[in-house]
Amino acid sequence: MEHRGGTGSEETGRGIRQVGHWIGGRLEDTGRRTGPVFDPSAGEVIAEVRFGDAEVVHRAVQVAERAQRAWAETSLAQRAAVLFAFRERLRARTQELARVVSREHGKTVADAEGEVARGLEVVELACGVPHLAKGEFSEQVSRGVDTYSVRQPLGVVAGITPFNFPAMVPLWMCPVAVALGNAFVLKPSEKDPSASLVLAECWEEAGLPPGVFQVVQGDGEVVEAILAHPGVAAVSFVGSTPVARRVYEAAAAAGKRVQALGGAKNHMVVCPDADLDEAAAAAVSAGFGSAGERCMAVSVVVALEPVGDALVERIAKRMAEVRVGPGDRPGVEMGPLVTREHRDRVAGYLDKAAEEGARVVVDGRRHPVEGPPRGFWLGPSLVDEVRPGMAVYDDEIFGPVLAVVRVADLDDALELLRANPYGNGAAIFTRSGALARRFAREAPCGMVGVNVPIPVPVGTFPFGGWKQSLFGDTHVYGRDAVHFYSRGKVVTSRWVVAGSSEVRMAFPAASGDRSSE
Ligand code: NAD
Repeated sequence: MEHRGGTGSEETGRGIRQVGHWIGGRLEDTGRRTGPVFDPSAGEVIAEVRFGDAEVVHRAVQVAERAQRAWAETSLAQRAAVLFAFRERLRARTQELARVVSREHGKTVADAEGEVARGLEVVELACGVPHLAKGEFSEQVSRGVDTYSVRQPLGVVAGITPFNFPAMVPLWMCPVAVALGNAFVLKPSEKDPSASLVLAECWEEAGLPPGVFQVVQGDGEVVEAILAHPGVAAVSFVGSTPVARRVYEAAAAAGKRVQALGGAKNHMVVCPDADLDEAAAAAVSAGFGSAGERCMAVSVVVALEPVGDALVERIAKRMAEVRVGPGDRPGVEMGPLVTREHRDRVAGYLDKAAEEGARVVVDGRRHPVEGPPRGFWLGPSLVDEVRPGMAVYDDEIFGPVLAVVRVADLDDALELLRANPYGNGAAIFTRSGALARRFAREAPCGMVGVNVPIPVPVGTFPFGGWKQSLFGDTHVYGRDAVHFYSRGKVVTSRWVVAGSSEVRMAFPAASGDRSSE
């Protein structure tokens, strides 16, 4: 089947593919403004994304509100059936979706297939909605009185997502939201918007009624319209910390439920007893996979001396072998960065690092590239002797630059983590159970890896960070998603036997009937 997301919604007179919105089960390309969508490997514009505005958001929310009321009335079994069918459609279209992601983001097709697979875990979680949505029941809380609790949908909820996982991050949100009876409005990143439309098609093919899953394309203007719209009950955001903070504050001020995941600076601590070959391989995979454009990428290696020299040598040796080129070329391990501006910004940290006294061991600007010269290329870089206070340490670079900080022991490593404003993930490489246990207990972050460099939890556990990596009190997916996308209700019921009614003016207490015992 030809899909409208990846191969093009519509060719216009201008001859360039237009990426539009998905409202009420139909594509539309309204909106005054547009943005360019690049193929980062070629450095060329391949499509134009239509930017919605407050009017488009309003229409999408109105359609979603109507659809949600009917959707919430369907049975749990019917909703589960749609989720199972959605899973099958996503599985059937994984490779095609991965190619759409790779083309606009730049990551390798294999990596993009991996992100769809991680998203599928959450779909599989949501397939269990009859179980997830179960409440509790207590019989005879007082004489003749029973109490039960239920979880009910919020209504229309919105997801605002970043460029780096255009399939996975929406899939962190929408499966559980939809399964619980909400309608979901997605505002994807304007940098790689087409994956959102493939997801919309998969939902449609799975039998989800029109209007329950909607896509409004655009930039900050659409985000502001979502935050201001009274019909949006909850907002899930994933992106950079300054925007996450703004979304959290604005949504909360408007009385919405909100979770806003921000940036990261993930540390990987390597202890002297670690297998250094294993640790070096892990640092290269986790530092440079997806060109470092992952919120869980390792960006700082913390070497507990005396392993610094040996570790840096091993990492540098492995980096030299990384094949950089277009994401769809067989054998390529790392693609380009998402835009030219981002590539230049990331490369700028190498000059700054040298000026600030760090040692640039490997300069990615000199790495061989197998792609067209206009692509947004930057090879992997390694910077040693980094310290807090240097831009290469303090900033979230979000590119293929790995910093090495050398410290004396685990106390110093933990101190470093405590002082860092981010708290997404952290990892330790060691053969000591005692060191690993202490680290897992004391690391001030939401996700910890023990000999696992990218500890992204499986779909049945929640994902989320601490400190400036997450504003809000629930993480995404896992049990937290059930809580976030539903609200509790507790019903206390008493069925009166005819003729037993009496007036009781005292405040009802369950213990009240003890006095009569
Ligand atoms: P971004 O903050 O620039 O954009 C995220 C979303 O917000 C996009 O949909 C974008 O259109 C919108 N947006 C951008 N600027 C805005 C503004 N001023 N007002 C309102 N909305 C705005 O992030 P990005 O560059 O797309 O993604 C990379 C960032 O996302 C990194 O900081 C990365 O760490 C973070 N990220 C975090 C996680 C996590 O789980 N914590 C996961 C993935 C990405």
